[in-house]
Amino acid sequence: MTYPNIDAGRDTTSGSAVSRRPRRRGKGSATDARDGVLHPKAGEFLMAVLGGCDTIGMNMTMYGSDGKWLLVDAGCTFPDDDDRDLGLEVIIPDPEFALRHAKDIVGMVVTHAHEDHVGAVSHLWPKIGCPIFCTPFAAEAVRGKLDERRKTSKVRIHTHKPGGSFSVGPFQVRTVPVAHSIPEATALAITTKAGTVVHTGDWKIDPNPVLGPKTDLAALKAIGDQGVLALMSDSTNAMSSGSTPSEGTTLDGFDRAFAGRKGAIVVGCFSSNVARLKSIALTAAKHGRKVALAGRSLVRMEDIGRKLGMFSGVAPFLSDAEIKRLPRREQVIICTGTQGEENAALSRIACAEHRHLRICDGDTVIFSARKIPGNEESIEAIQQKLRNLGATVLTPADFPVHVSGHPSRDDLAEMIRTVRPATVVPVHGTPAHLEAHAELSRSVGTPSAVLPRNGSVLRITKERGVEVLDSFPARMLAWNGARLVGWAPSETDPEAAMAALLSAEALGGSGSAPRHSGHPSPDPEESRRRKSPASHQAPRLGRDGRPVLSLDAKHRELRRAGSGIHDAGSVRVWLPDAPSDVRGDKIAGGSGKPSGKPSGNMGENSAEVGTGAGGHPHSKAEPTATRTAAQRRRDQRKRAKERRREEEAATAT
Ligand SMILES: [Zn+2]
Ligand SMILES: [Zn+2]
Repeated sequence: MTYPNIDAGRDTTSGSAVSRRPRRRGKGSATDARDGVLHPKAGEFLMAVLGGCDTIGMNMTMYGSDGKWLLVDAGCTFPDDDDRDLGLEVIIPDPEFALRHAKDIVGMVVTHAHEDHVGAVSHLWPKIGCPIFCTPFAAEAVRGKLDERRKTSKVRIHTHKPGGSFSVGPFQVRTVPVAHSIPEATALAITTKAGTVVHTGDWKIDPNPVLGPKTDLAALKAIGDQGVLALMSDSTNAMSSGSTPSEGTTLDGFDRAFAGRKGAIVVGCFSSNVARLKSIALTAAKHGRKVALAGRSLVRMEDIGRKLGMFSGVAPFLSDAEIKRLPRREQVIICTGTQGEENAALSRIACAEHRHLRICDGDTVIFSARKIPGNEESIEAIQQKLRNLGATVLTPADFPVHVSGHPSRDDLAEMIRTVRPATVVPVHGTPAHLEAHAELSRSVGTPSAVLPRNGSVLRITKERGVEVLDSFPARMLAWNGARLVGWAPSETDPEAAMAALLSAEALGGSGSAPRHSGHPSPDPEESRRRKSPASHQAPRLGRDGRPVLSLDAKHRELRRAGSGIHDAGSVRVWLPDAPSDVRGDKIAGGSGKPSGKPSGNMGENSAEVGTGAGGHPHSKAEPTATRTAAQRRRDQRKRAKERRREEEAATAT
């Protein structure tokens, strides 16, 4: 396995474009790997990237030192409409690497409560079972997720205030408050005998965050004064110039947007942005209006926020049933659904299907969010419906009613100058974002930058800086309402899609039909059918009225169809003659060949944790004789392609 787009050990102080080739773990390595399990030594940090460094979302990182591992975040991403039609609800990193090291994981630290950082916790915690460390606000989110799956009772959740410190195993963790688009976001300074690394989580520099403390640059500077081996920092806006505007600017934006409006004002925003809710409430009070929350997630957020004292100075919110009794010029209604989600309050209001709320001529609807790429059509459709009902639709293009929660280039430079790490490791972004961040770090004078990909294992030492140690296959799993199944996006290498399916099969996860589509049906009869166990046998109809097959049914059908590339809807599948070698990436100490037999179980009811080498597909060798000539050629082509990409990456920036 090679490491595309990894720029290891680049000497940036000299401006040289020549990079050393990634060093590989070899004989005499300080890290000992047996049976595919890495045993980090006391004088080193290992960083294993399970997710977050190929696409934005699914952040999951493990830090190893002195024989133990610390998990940082376990996030998810969401499927597109087509995959939702297949019954898929969330997509998470394949936790195989974490499960393999589960007995050495001493804890999980959550940087903040966004789904791309906590969305996989409820799926993974039952398999790992380690203590969870988070702030009180994130603890509410984590408990909520575990409650949904009735896992709360056994979980040990340790809470700390942003800025607090704790020790777990060999790791001393100091948390640093950072501003972001959700309360209580934290950066982590993780110290062991090997030194200190700083993992920023999501952050921005914000002189007026409206809610909570500013990013504590003084604390980060003090940590930098002690010497920081590596800075793992948020690359989301690494291609945006300047500095991200403050959340406080939305106060002025709402003030201007509210001024002179006669009818009701509806504001759509993300429920987790409590500072935004506070800005809207403060502006409403200034304009003599009362505020109602429409939507369960908003009401839950108010409950949590009030409990934690986040709404001081804000009058209690009304319910949607209460506010309709006020004159329209006194109404402000906050709702979710800015991305055009079908079942959110904003959509129901736009379709005149909301139980209590209606749009009348002269009302104003403010979209206090950016358009997430891919949602443009749904958003436009809802906005047009609202206009047809007589509303004026306002967006961030009209008034500054939305700001990003992530740092732009000037902010990234300030973070690097504050922490002064020996190496910058850009995370939280696509390869293009990570490249842009690495380029920036060079211009700021950081000695080196290393770009990980999902599946990279880096070794960080005082003596040798950050090196590429190893890699593991970084795959994805999708939760279909009943089980985790292998998943790969249709545009990826079809081999990856096939590997995902086989991975799920090996983990015992692909044998179930999707339970439901993720879109609750308004038809009660249909809902009843879906709840009934017998409905698993009945063909489910897709949007086009044709039966939707479950993933495993598709898999069987494709197997019958023989080898070649098949379009299986959301998953394009490459079917080799003998599909036994698609998990051929070598893992340290193991043969890297799959057994193809069920081993371990990611199914919901399983109590097994696949930590033992003997229990994992990677630990079993597949006889080379079973590989076909076609497969060998394919492997050779793949290796050559990866080599080219690695070389390109080493000289391109
Ligand atoms: Zn976030
Ligand atoms: Zn994030």
